[in-house]
Amino acid sequence: MRRMAEYVFAPPPVTVAPVEGQAGGFPVRRILCVGRNYAAHRREMGGDDRDPPFFFAKPADALVPPGRDAEYPPRTANLHHEIELVIAIGGAGADVPVGNALALVYGYAVGVDLTRRDLQNAAKDKGHPWDASKGFDQSAPISAIRAWKGAPPQGRIALSVNGAVRQDATVADMIWNVPEIVAEASKLWALAPGDLIYTGTPEGVGPLVRGDLVEGEVEGVGKLSFRIV
Ligand code: MN
Repeated sequence: MRRMAEYVFAPPPVTVAPVEGQAGGFPVRRILCVGRNYAAHRREMGGDDRDPPFFFAKPADALVPPGRDAEYPPRTANLHHEIELVIAIGGAGADVPVGNALALVYGYAVGVDLTRRDLQNAAKDKGHPWDASKGFDQSAPISAIRAWKGAPPQGRIALSVNGAVRQDATVADMIWNVPEIVAEASKLWALAPGDLIYTGTPEGVGPLVRGDLVEGEVEGVGKLSFRIV
């Protein structure tokens, strides 16, 4: 009998983020993102101070691993940078209590949530979804992941463009902290190893153009650097 092929075409490659000090990489399952998780950024976006943070998502293959540049996406004239602490999930859990949430954390990375701000503003006006404004190809640059146990990063989070500082804040200023983000996400999705959570950006977001050099860092976690091409 003829053996059936397993797939009708080659399956897509697994998206991988490197891990510092490890030969093996972190296989990415999906990317969740927190919106409006810093009060000053919520204000610059025109949000109400009482609005709680919320989640949206990007596909795993939107990831831009370190050492790669990000192509300026089509269909936008206002691409924005958002520097963010990224949580790398290494355990599984649903409805995880805040007190147990850190047990799911494998480590942390530095990420940029690239955003088609013009499309996002139009979507907000019409009550449309954010997929095209947030989840486009190459919209999630990331550094190497740093394995981490214990108290989450609390220090400086900053981004510069062509050497000029645009965003400069403190991770400790997040509205939902790391255990709260993991617990909240696990109420909505069963978290599993390979999930990444971009935790929201502080104030100072702004536009990028082709040729810009974007450099970001989170104190204690690492740095990332890429060009818009
Ligand atoms: Mn963001």
